[in-house]
This record gives sequence, C-alpha cells and structure tokens, in this order.
Amino acid sequence: MRKNIISSLFAIAIGFGFCQGAPSSETVTTASTANYEVVPIPHKILPDRGKPFILDADVSIVCKNDNPQMLKNAEMLSAYLKQLTGLDIRVVNTPIATASKQIVLSTSLTADSPDAYKINITQEAITISGASPAGTFYGIQTLRKSIDAGEKGEVVFPAAVIEDAPEFAYRGAHLDVARHFFPADSVKKYIDMMALHNMNRLHWHLTDDQGWRLPLKRHPELITKGAIRRGTCIGKDFSSCDSIPYGGFYTPAEIRDVIAYAADRHISIIPEIDLPGHMLAMLTAHPDLGCTGGPYELWTIWGISDDVLCAGNDDVYTILDEVLSEVAEIFPYQYVHIGGDECPKDRWKECQKCQAKIKELGLTDDEEFTKEQKLQSHVMKFATDVLSRHGKKIIGWDEILEGTVPDDAVVMSWRGSEGGKKAAETGHDAIMAPYTHYYLDYYQSEDRENEPLAIGGYIPLSKSYSFEPFDGISPENRKHILGVQANLWTEYIHTFPHVQYMVLPRWAALSEVQWSAPESRDFDAFRTRLANMKEHYRANGFNFSEREE
Ligand SMILES: [Zn+2]
Repeated sequence: MRKNIISSLFAIAIGFGFCQGAPSSETVTTASTANYEVVPIPHKILPDRGKPFILDADVSIVCKNDNPQMLKNAEMLSAYLKQLTGLDIRVVNTPIATASKQIVLSTSLTADSPDAYKINITQEAITISGASPAGTFYGIQTLRKSIDAGEKGEVVFPAAVIEDAPEFAYRGAHLDVARHFFPADSVKKYIDMMALHNMNRLHWHLTDDQGWRLPLKRHPELITKGAIRRGTCIGKDFSSCDSIPYGGFYTPAEIRDVIAYAADRHISIIPEIDLPGHMLAMLTAHPDLGCTGGPYELWTIWGISDDVLCAGNDDVYTILDEVLSEVAEIFPYQYVHIGGDECPKDRWKECQKCQAKIKELGLTDDEEFTKEQKLQSHVMKFATDVLSRHGKKIIGWDEILEGTVPDDAVVMSWRGSEGGKKAAETGHDAIMAPYTHYYLDYYQSEDRENEPLAIGGYIPLSKSYSFEPFDGISPENRKHILGVQANLWTEYIHTFPHVQYMVLPRWAALSEVQWSAPESRDFDAFRTRLANMKEHYRANGFNFSEREE
C-alpha cells in the first residue's frame, strides 16, 4: 500500500516534503520523505519520474573499494542513518546477490574538482559516485541532510539525479584556542560541525599572547611556562582580573588524534603560529627574545601588545626555525599559517639590535613602507624559507602585503576584501575571511541585551549570506581566490556551547557562499532550507542560535 501512495506523490515530493494529506495515517507516520534542497544547496537536482527508493531495514551499503577512506565513508554513512532513522544499515563490500536494495559508494566520477559527486536515486539503489573519497563524502553529507531530522523511521527518497561540485576548493573555519582553551573533544565536535557544512579546512589558532597550546618536543617550556595565565579580565574591564589561573594545552596524542579525526572527515588542519607579534607566550618563556628583555607575562586582557619578538636577535631566528620545523613534522597538510598580523613597531624603533639588523639588511623607508615594516617582511621571509625546506607553504594575514610578500605565500584577507584583491592583482593566492561578514565573534542580533556578551559589531545571518567573494576582482584574477573562511576569536567566548551558538547558523550561510552556485543565492529560500538544517543541529546536539536577522 505504501508503494501506491508513494508513486502518486513522488512527483511533488522534491522540495515540498511528504504530503500530509495522504490517505493512510499509518504510512505517513512510518515514512518521511527526503528533500534534496539541503544546505548548501546542490548545483543540480534533476527529478526523475521513476519510483522512489525506500530506506528500510533491508538496505545495505555497498563499498567495493579497498580504499580505507571509502570504508570510513561507508561506516560514517551507516552511523548517520542509524542516528537519523534508528535503522541498522550494514556495510558490505560486495553487492548482495538477491534483489535487496543498496546504497552503493564509489569513486568512479570524472570531474574537474575532487570534491564533486553525483547521486543517482532509483527504486533499486542509491549510487553515490565521488570524484575522490572526499567527493563521495560530500554526496553522503547531502544524502544525510536530505532526511527529515525531526522524524525517525523509514525514509522515502524520490527518484532523482543530483550533480554537485563546490564553487571553492578552500572552505575554511577558524578556531581560536589561545584566548580561551577548548579541549580536544570540543575540537572534534567542531570538526563534526564543519563536516555537516561541507567545510574542509580547519584553521587552528594555537598560540597567542594569552596562551600557548601546542606541545613541542624541543621546546616543552612553551607549555610549562606559556600555557597557564594568572587570571583573566572580567568582561571588558581591562583593569580587572579574576585572579583565577586559566589555561590548558593539548598532549601530542591529542594533536595526532584530532588530525586523524579531521582527515577521516576530509578536513585538513592548518596550524597557526602567530608571529612576530602576538608572541607573549613565547616571550614569557624566553624573556631574552624580546627587545626590552622583559620580564613578560601571559596577558590577562585582550588587544594588541606592543611587546613582540625582537627581529634583531639571532636567537629569535633559531627558535623560530626549531618551532616551525617541528610544526611542519606534526601537521601533514601543505600549509602552515604564520600570522603576521598586528605587530606594532614601537619596540623595534627603539631597539638597538633591531636597528642594527635594519642597517645590516640595508633597509630604508620609502613612500610605501617603513624600514620596520620591511624588517617584518624579513622575519616572514625567514619563516617561509624554514617551512619551504620542509615542503610547506605559508598563509599569512593580509598585513604581509606591507612589504615584500614571499612568492608562494597565500594572503588571508581579514580587513575586508581589499587584501585579497591586492594579493590576486600581484599574482598571489588569497582566502577571503573579511571581518565585515565572517568575524563570528560579532553580535548576530541587534537585540544585544538578550545576547551573550560579544566583542561588538553586528553580523546578522543575512549579512554572512550576502558576501560576494569576487566583488571587485577582475575575471582573469578570480583563479587566485582559493576560497572563503569564517573566523572565531574567543576573547569573550568561554564555553563550547557558546562557540557553537556563535557559528551556527551563520556557518550555514557561509557554506552556501563556499559551495553553492552564486546564481542560486536567495536568502528567503535559504531560510526555508535552514529549517531542516536546524533539525540536524538538534539531532547532533549542536547548540545554535534561533536568530535569523
Ligand atoms: Zn629588537
């Protein structure tokens, strides 16, 4: 009986959900209908007039591929389906000979993007073909999100073909664990949240003036002296301090575990060692590396410290070489972020060693840049060369444009889109992470009194949705825009539920900018799609904001 009802309804099912006026109440309560208009919206959804696929306990997932990434994909799909439907869908490596229904995973798709996938849904099978295991994973995410997360039980998948590939190869999210520390389990949950949004780059901000979180074999003192601050200012009163020792750090095993957990979800981790500013943690452990000799202590407040690494001290170059070499060994991805932002030059102007280095290098002021800015370029070039020796490339904040930019450097444009535009015009790749749209520590509602304390500003959901990555970029330079990222600075974010509240659902808006076709951009339609995404947040226990301004 169910089949008859379904076949009369399949034509209207896509985009509208199952008809609530169906004649059999039994059918309506036991099966929900999948809706392929998910977040981010796929590029092509082609309805088919064939009969739908019914997901029930007879279905198995077929993964013939010996590739361990594909087997992980299959296991994750089985776990997602169990969570959403309550059904035990087993994974097999050869098709079952009988006529039982199958979800078949493969990497047989040929496409320009490795993240591309195609899903073919017929009465007999759902076939997800990726252009790589990552592509198959994104197909799995779309299939998962098409299920009504508010309903358990069997699912009707209307016959259709879905063809999809991302607009951008780099789809990033950033997490600051220096201002407030978030343990490995929270970072793994953040990675789960990213996977649900088809994101693939986690920018992990591991060091700053308020704490050093990354364990290094050659420099354990960075943790023993640099991970716990004596207290934290209360709210925005920088003259206050709660005097409660605060901090934390990861163990080497936790770092390895997080890297592997992310890799299973096709997410690469970009560690950030922010230099030569934002370095009070290193200076606290090594006062001799600062221009004044200190003493220094981990900051209990927020902002930009005048105390930075002394660029005239040879020992600074030695420790940077050792630290970055070990970072390169720990993290497998090809990029390391070396910061370069917010480095005041006050100390360098007064420091004999820094001025001697400027003389030695023959740096002079010119119309565009000061000799101290050029000294910073020298430090960035040194760090770039160290990482290059280890086969890595660097990403830096857009301040690295002040001076000479290393050839392979990728510019992360945070002060609006201008840095990305300038980078592209000078032949450098860029990532757009403008504070105007994607600094998610900003308020998401004008109703500030009923929001948790935020750093300021106002970035509603609609603003995050409205970003145009190619605005002002000439067609020939667009190839240099690798992608888009949102940043989460945690000065005022103490708990992980608060982290989740700040990024969800603004990540949903971001994910359509990162992934979907620009011509599909429609905020009202997006909000309709967001309703089921929020059900998925609930099903996963992710805290989120109900604000949709
Ligand atoms: Zn100096």
